[in-house]
Amino acid sequence: NKQAPSNFIRNIILNDLESGKHKTIVTRFPPEPNGYLHIGHAKSIVLNFDLADEFGGKTHLRFDDTNPLKEDTEYVESIKEDVRWLGYEWDGLYFASDYFEEMYQRAVLLIKKGKAYVCDLSPEEIRATRGTLTEPGKESPYRNRSVEENLDLFERMRKGEFKDGEKTLRAKIDMASPNLNMRDPVLYRILHATHHNTGDKWCIYPMYDFAHPLEDAIEGVTHSICTLEFEDHRPLYDWVIRECEMECQPQQIEFARLNMTNTVMSKRKLKLLVDNGIVDGWDDPRMPTIAGLRRRGYTPEAIREFCRAIGVAKSNSTVDYQMLEHFIREDLKLKAPRTMAILRPLKVVITNYPEGQVEWLDAENNPENPEMGTRKIPFSREIYIEQDDFMEVPPPKYHRLYPGNEVRLKHAYIIKCEEVIKDEAGNVVELRCTYDPTTKSGQDTSGKKVKGTIHWVEANHALPAEFRLYEPLILEDDQEEEENKSFLERINPNSLEVLQGFVEAQLKGVAPQTKFQFFRHGYFNVDPKYTTAEKPVFNRIVSLKSSFKL
Ligand code: ATP
Ligand code: MG
Ligand code: MG
Repeated sequence: NKQAPSNFIRNIILNDLESGKHKTIVTRFPPEPNGYLHIGHAKSIVLNFDLADEFGGKTHLRFDDTNPLKEDTEYVESIKEDVRWLGYEWDGLYFASDYFEEMYQRAVLLIKKGKAYVCDLSPEEIRATRGTLTEPGKESPYRNRSVEENLDLFERMRKGEFKDGEKTLRAKIDMASPNLNMRDPVLYRILHATHHNTGDKWCIYPMYDFAHPLEDAIEGVTHSICTLEFEDHRPLYDWVIRECEMECQPQQIEFARLNMTNTVMSKRKLKLLVDNGIVDGWDDPRMPTIAGLRRRGYTPEAIREFCRAIGVAKSNSTVDYQMLEHFIREDLKLKAPRTMAILRPLKVVITNYPEGQVEWLDAENNPENPEMGTRKIPFSREIYIEQDDFMEVPPPKYHRLYPGNEVRLKHAYIIKCEEVIKDEAGNVVELRCTYDPTTKSGQDTSGKKVKGTIHWVEANHALPAEFRLYEPLILEDDQEEEENKSFLERINPNSLEVLQGFVEAQLKGVAPQTKFQFFRHGYFNVDPKYTTAEKPVFNRIVSLKSSFKL
C-alpha cells in the first residue's frame, strides 16, 4: 500500500509522533454489523489502514455490536470479506460485545462517583425534558438518588427485573449544558433481546456514546477517526474516558463523510432497497456496496485510488459518481483484454466470400499494452454486427453502414452494403454485403480510405452471451432529500437493461469476475451469479468515454 496522501489527520499524527505523545499509532475501523459495507465505508477503511501502514502502526477491525436488534452474523462475515478484498488485513479482530462486562463495571464506577444514576423516565419523557438549543433541560426527579439505591437498581436492571424502557442509566453531567449531548445522556437501556454474540446473557445494552470511547480506550486506540456528525459528541467522548478513569486516552478526530451523486450511502437505506426487492440483493451491481461494486467489476485498486484521491476534509461535499468511474477505467485500461462483443445483433452475409471457408485473422489483445499479445479470430461468410451500425437512411455525418457505403470491419476487411433484407413488418433482419479481398487489415493493398470502423463477430463460432447494462439506481433532483420516501421515489425505473447477443468464441467457459474491454462498448465483468458453463453473463462496469475531468 502506498503512502497516505497528506491531510489534516495525517498532520495530527505526525505531530503526535514528533512530540513523543505517541510512539506508535493504533487506528480502528468500527462498523456496526447491521448491513453490508458501502463505498463510504471504503473511505474510512482506506484512511485508517493507510495511516497505520505508513507509520508502522496497527489497525483494528472492531465490530461495534451494541444493538442486538439490528445485528447479524451474516453482516459480520460479509464485512470481513469486504475488508480483505479491499486489500487490508487487520491487526486484531474485536467485538464491542466482548467488553460488556468491563463496560458494566465502568458504569458501576460512575455510579459510585456520583456521576451516573438510574432514571425511571420513559424515553419520551427523557426527550421531552432535554430542552432545546435555546432552553435548558429539566432535571430528572430521579437525579438525586443515593449511590446505594443506584447500585441496587442498576444491578437489578442487569438481572432482568425490569421491562424494556422502564429504566435507564444516565450520566449525571449538566442539564443546562449548551451541548445537548451533555444533558444527562442515557448510558444504558433495557432491551430483552438475543444478541448475535452474547445470546441472552445481557438484557441491558450500552449506548453508542458510552460504549464507543470505552471500546477505543480498552483497545489502546490512539486516533479514533469518525465522521463529522460526531463532532458535537466529542465532549461526551472525552467525559466518558476521563470519568471512567481509562488509562488510554484516544483522540477523536472527525472528517467529512463521503457522499456521492446518484446513489444513497446508508446501510439503512440500502437495506430498504434489498428488503423491498428493488435490487437483486446487497451485491446487486447497481448497489454502492463493496459487494455490489465487486460484482459489477470494480477492482480493489480502483476503489483504493478513488478513496485516496477524494481526500479528507472537514466539511461535507458530494463527489460526482463519474469520479469513481474514472478510476476503474484507469485501472483496467492496461489490464483488461480487448475483444469484440455484439450486444444487439444484426446478421450480415458476405455474398462474395466462399461458402464453408473460415480464415483466422490476427487481433491484438490490447493496443495500449502490447505485452498482452495477439489472438486469432475466425472470419467467414456470415457475421454479426451491431444493429445501430447500420442505417437505411443515414443522417449527415453517419460513417457506418448504409446502402452503398463501405466500412472497415475491425481486424478484417472493408465491406460494402449491397442489399437490405426485411421481415414482413418492415424490420431490417439481414444485410447482404460484399468484401474487398485486397483490404485485409495489416496487408491492405487497395489504397481505399473509409471513414468508419465497426466491430463484428463470426456467426458460426460466436458464443451467445447476456449483457447487463446499468444506469444510476437513484435519479438526482434539486430537492434536498429529507426522508426515506423521497429517495424511494427517486428510484430510476430503467436502471437495468438486459440484452442477448454474442461474444468471441474464445470466451467460452470464462471465469467469473474476469474483466474485458468490449470494443466500443466499455468495460465488462463476468457476473459470478448468473453466468453458466454454456452462457456467460456480462455486467457493464462502465462505458468507455466520459466528459469527466479529474
Ligand atoms: P450507515 O449509516 O451507512 O450505517 P454508519 O456510520 O452508521 O453508516 P458504521 O458501521 O457505524 O456505519 O460505520 C463504520 C465506520 O465507517 C465509521 O467509522 C463511520 O464513520 C465510517 N463511515 C460510514 N459511512 C461513511 C461515509 N459515507 N464516509 C466515510 N466514512 C463513513
Ligand atoms: Mg449506522
Ligand atoms: Mg455507526
